[in-house]
Amino acid sequence: MERVEIVEVGVRDGLQNEPGVLPTAAKLELIGRLVASGLGRLEVASFVHPERVPAMADAEAVLAGLGPRPGFTAIGLVLNRRGYERARRAGVTEIGMAVAATDAFGLRNQGMDVATALGAWADIAGEARAAGLPAQITISTAFGCPFEGEVAPARVVDLARRAAEAGPVEIALADTIGVAVPTQVTDLVGRVREALPGVRLRLHFHDTRNTALANACAGYAAGVRVFDASVGGLGGCPFAPKATGNVATEDLVYLFERMGIPTGVSLEALLAAGRALEVTLGRALPGRVLKAGGFPPAAAADRGR
Ligand code: MG
Repeated sequence: MERVEIVEVGVRDGLQNEPGVLPTAAKLELIGRLVASGLGRLEVASFVHPERVPAMADAEAVLAGLGPRPGFTAIGLVLNRRGYERARRAGVTEIGMAVAATDAFGLRNQGMDVATALGAWADIAGEARAAGLPAQITISTAFGCPFEGEVAPARVVDLARRAAEAGPVEIALADTIGVAVPTQVTDLVGRVREALPGVRLRLHFHDTRNTALANACAGYAAGVRVFDASVGGLGGCPFAPKATGNVATEDLVYLFERMGIPTGVSLEALLAAGRALEVTLGRALPGRVLKAGGFPPAAAADRGR
């Protein structure tokens, strides 16, 4: 089975949607544990206005704490040129940007309609290329919008085509509010891969309605090999206040590894990172495998080798 890459988004996407702000030192400790588990690509900060997202106000301090050669791919999320400049100066090793699939979501979430965000992306991607920094883009609400409802697949394909003109290293399709189902994943991934055969795709699923793992299986079957996930399922869903947000990294690692699909991540080390984070936050996280543990138990697995 072909291996998958899991991009850990807990430190940015997860923490950004948590109540309260984790101190920089606690973020660095968390990052260290996640990297030690084998994760090689992590979203570590967003370079947005600190008043809009207080949890990310220490973006520069986090990057400074990682040092000049962090030993993994440190992704900084940016939404405009100003954020890009901050991220580049802070020393991120990959730039992430987002464009919503609908004007309504784009305007409320990042203050930009689709056309404006695409313009900003083209600008940022050009700057990043000149600086030798890989840049990728996420199409949010690609499977449904909290304001406009169903999103036509043709619209997402068109958006992906236009985003691809700026030469991203990868395009992600994000189920930002956790409404996608596997048949939809199969269909949309198929359409985007057909339109852009040379572009690497990533999938970002939320477990809001308990469909994230089924969607990940559909995504793998459709040929995608890169998936976002958040340790412990860290981060809620701003459009479903009582619900779970990002799919838990341990749940995805467990699923893939037990299917014989290598992830490069140690489940035991990842579970230890999740448990340490629960202690730091003083509450339980929603990840299922964090509660149940892996299988077979580590000692029995060793005997079976
Ligand atoms: Mg998310």
